[in-house]
Amino acid sequence: MWLRKSRIDNAADQVAATTTPDNSALDASSERSRIAETLLASAARLLKARNELEIIKGVCEALCSVSSHIRLAWTWFGPATTDTIRPQVYAGAASDYAAHMTIERNLITELGPAFRTLQGEAAEAFKISAWSVFGPWREIARTHGVHSVLAVPLHSAHTGMAGIFVIYADREDYFEQVGEGLFTALGALFSSVLSASAERTVLEQVVNHDALTGLLNRRALPIVERRVARQSLFDPKSFVLVIDLDHFKSINDTYGHAAGDEVLRHAASVMRKLLRRDDDLMRWGGEEFLVCLANTSQEDALKVAEKLRQGIASLRDPVPVTASIGVAEVMPQRALADAIHIAEQALFDAKEAGRNQVCMRA
Ligand code: GH3
Ligand code: MG
Ligand code: MG
Repeated sequence: MWLRKSRIDNAADQVAATTTPDNSALDASSERSRIAETLLASAARLLKARNELEIIKGVCEALCSVSSHIRLAWTWFGPATTDTIRPQVYAGAASDYAAHMTIERNLITELGPAFRTLQGEAAEAFKISAWSVFGPWREIARTHGVHSVLAVPLHSAHTGMAGIFVIYADREDYFEQVGEGLFTALGALFSSVLSASAERTVLEQVVNHDALTGLLNRRALPIVERRVARQSLFDPKSFVLVIDLDHFKSINDTYGHAAGDEVLRHAASVMRKLLRRDDDLMRWGGEEFLVCLANTSQEDALKVAEKLRQGIASLRDPVPVTASIGVAEVMPQRALADAIHIAEQALFDAKEAGRNQVCMRA
């Protein structure tokens, strides 16, 4: 009986402790130096992380483990115009709160730290209580004893992306006492890490795509190869098509290079429209294109090839054009490059037979 009563008392004490802010003195300077030391000590380990989000998660975990006052740290990174913010990386005792949180843009949230910071306002600390207007704050105050939150802006200089780094503490005056400097410095570090990753993605996009048609170029072959292999796990029948525009040199010679470019763009666009979303279409070089059809029967591959031939032959703007197409099967034991070589021989057959037609080689 005594044990039972004591448990209830303890539970009541705990609720009181979490809903009432702790106003006792805080040794801010030792808190600050402990956080700084831990973050520096973990830096070497974090730089070995596999990707940017792992680095940021590692920093957030280090931050929450060194200070019992910090209950949660999370980040979100994406387009500044977003209507929804969901933590992508989080750490701390109140992680379950972040795991289920979605902040939709509305009249209340636009005045709150997340969207204000995303709009480019400086870092600002907000008080949180069991009576806050924003429902989720009432919840985190009651369940995790959180009494203040600081949102730090993140931005990527070149990609137009933005984000936020948000830290929750158990004291109302935590950020006033400890200062915002350490957290805004971490925000700057996160911004650099995320910008580098976003720029790399943009760079990869540029490297793997053809500027004229917007299609993948031949440097992207390994990506396509992996995709075909993945899609063919259960039904391994795949086909490759090599498409070459007929007498293209004479189009350039007669109508000029700009007209030739326009023909290439229109041929690419008509093929893209005729293919399924999962079919890979690449500009293989000059006036040659490559299509990979995963999970496709021979009959269907030949039908697709014929559809593409007709689609190109129907183009009139800026000048009429036709294409010859070679088809080959991508066998499980045959590398994509070998299948392409056989399709090129089939293409040669189509040229020999008079162009504007589809040929296949086994
Ligand atoms: P065939 O029917 O045998 O394929 O003859 P063809 O004239 O199409 O083939 P050929 O290989 O002789 O000529 C291809 C031409 O494509 C030559 C090249 O200048 C042109 N070309 C390659 N890339 C581009 C490009 O990006 N823009 C333009 N306008 N022309 C290009
Ligand atoms: Mg050619
Ligand atoms: Mg040609």
